[in-house]
Amino acid sequence: MSNTKIHVITHKRTNMYVIGNNEKYVLYDCLWHDSFSVIKSALKEHGIAFTQIIGLLISHFHPDHAGSFELLRQHGVAPIILDYQMPHIKWLNNFFAKPKNDPARQYIPIKTELIKPVTADTAKEILRSCGIDGKILQTPGHSDDSISLIVGDSVFVGDLPRAETTVGFGGKAEASWCEISDYNISKIYYAHGNTYEDIAAIEKWKAEHLDD
Ligand SMILES: [Zn+2]
Repeated sequence: MSNTKIHVITHKRTNMYVIGNNEKYVLYDCLWHDSFSVIKSALKEHGIAFTQIIGLLISHFHPDHAGSFELLRQHGVAPIILDYQMPHIKWLNNFFAKPKNDPARQYIPIKTELIKPVTADTAKEILRSCGIDGKILQTPGHSDDSISLIVGDSVFVGDLPRAETTVGFGGKAEASWCEISDYNISKIYYAHGNTYEDIAAIEKWKAEHLDD
């Protein structure tokens, strides 16, 4: 996966990722409802046209991760949405429908009727079509619609609570990290804070909790 490029776009303390092979890309998340102009100029800066973006993955449908979804779709970016994520889109539309959550009325509701959800296998095929050896895992813990994307030795986890904070709680997040740890990961990309962390944290957690 040495030719895979990862660009980060940050707005209001939230990261989204542009992942691809210099010709085609996928997006992992799309920030806030007022982030579209930031996304647009960042893509331009990286020399990436909307026509090169073959899909949009959403880590989970919270306001800071899926806010610019509909605008991107209107610019030709095809959603890659897992079937278990679909019910959560309604929650997001309802969230922004409250005037206190979007005083400037900038959010464009996501048209669920235009989205054809895919299976993880279909998503993998779509990723392969743009040269990405990727895999999508269902990784609940922060929310039930959370997905993680594995690309080579990197994992994009959205808001999955950090591995070291899930230790010993036996909850969904711990189980999700367990699944991620089956892959040969060296970098963890989060949606907030530092762009990525090296594997040290998860390795430490594995050593303490998976070997006994
Ligand atoms: Zn978040």
